[in-house]
Amino acid sequence: MQTVTILGATGSIGRQALAVIALHPERYQIEALTAHHNIDQLFNQCQRFKPRYAVVVDVKKASVLQQRLCSVGSQTKVLAGHEALVDVAKDGASTVVIAAIVGAAGLLPTLAAVQAGKRLLLANKEALVMAGALFVRAAQNSGATILPVDSEHNAIFQCMPDHFLPCVQRPHGIRSIILTASGGPFLHTPLNQMSAITLEQALAHPTWSMGPKISIDSATMMNKGLEVIEAYWLFQQPLDAIEVIIHPQSVIHSMVKYQDGSILAELGHPDMRTPIASALAWPERMTSGVADLDLVALGRLDFLSVPKERYPCFQFAYQALEASGNAACLLNAANEVAVAAFLAGRIKFTKIAEVIEAVLNHIASEDLIEIEAVLLADAAARELAERFVAKQKISVAN
Ligand code: NAD
Ligand code: MG
Repeated sequence: MQTVTILGATGSIGRQALAVIALHPERYQIEALTAHHNIDQLFNQCQRFKPRYAVVVDVKKASVLQQRLCSVGSQTKVLAGHEALVDVAKDGASTVVIAAIVGAAGLLPTLAAVQAGKRLLLANKEALVMAGALFVRAAQNSGATILPVDSEHNAIFQCMPDHFLPCVQRPHGIRSIILTASGGPFLHTPLNQMSAITLEQALAHPTWSMGPKISIDSATMMNKGLEVIEAYWLFQQPLDAIEVIIHPQSVIHSMVKYQDGSILAELGHPDMRTPIASALAWPERMTSGVADLDLVALGRLDFLSVPKERYPCFQFAYQALEASGNAACLLNAANEVAVAAFLAGRIKFTKIAEVIEAVLNHIASEDLIEIEAVLLADAAARELAERFVAKQKISVAN
């Protein structure tokens, strides 16, 4: 029996993880579930999965949830605030931590789980992008096992040699890893129409159903840029051995090219329950609730190279990796602010890239040794990005 804590239980990944876990009550029990402020959803999850702890970041909402749970006789203890996220992430009772908070808010609890030597199922890619070197060091020191949940990285992990452990080892015999990208909803949109893109269009991903932030990241292809950085840390490959190709069907989730000419791929429906189940059961296998893939009905798989001029955000990620130091942390912070501003209707779609570029041009990259430096770089980039958003404010209604 594994004891599981889910950071970000109320989100898209958190809900899908609970759906997989619900299929295997003999294998998993829930230690803690966390949410930012959606206490209705968390209340239902507590009723169903009976965790020992529920964490709500919003303090007032935490006490409302505690009252509601007490009134129905629930034994779940509610904890409040950001520090409680870190406490449950490193709590001695859990063996598995699923990092499914979106963005930088997940950094400290995710890193705490690695430092505590947990089996970490990593969906929260922004944490690794911000502080990859710290994660590698923490995993090497604590013996934590980091298993990727992001579909591309989970696919690559499945195609890696047996016994390979992400972050702590460098696999042998590999020529390159190939990340696939759907291209998002705007693969064929004329470039002169990009500034008129609406929020609704940007959220409508052609193949995956995901939370709002990653959906916008997929539309700008910043998501693939963040994934290149994520792959760099997980698989310890040089940048020129990380390839990206467009594969509009999203059936091949990624590939590994070996020195002998073999290419191994993982195929499946674009459904996150597959990588979640694969990481939860590793090194075994178990059902995920996902239907079989019918290859004959699928008929064909297409591949094309990335039209880079269409995706400036994707290119910024390469620049950030080449600059090293804290550049990826700055990139991530500027992106989070710009995407939040787009989601709130404060800036146009094409301004997302402009805000990020402005931040990267204004703050010099420095080495990142300790977590305090990561948090300072993150805060400085956010403040500057906010100023650019305010200055370049253009209503989407214009
Ligand atoms: P989501 O927006 O649906 O859910 C986010 C979760 O994080 C929620 O539970 C929310 O309560 C919590 N959260 C948000 N802000 C918080 C804060 N400030 N403090 C504490 N908790 C907070 O996001 P998602 O789509 O599930 O994505 C989660 C992570 O997984 C992201 O890093 C994303 O890039 C990654 N990911 C998601 C998918 C997908 O299919 N959704 C696929 C691959 C990777
Ligand atoms: Mg992905």
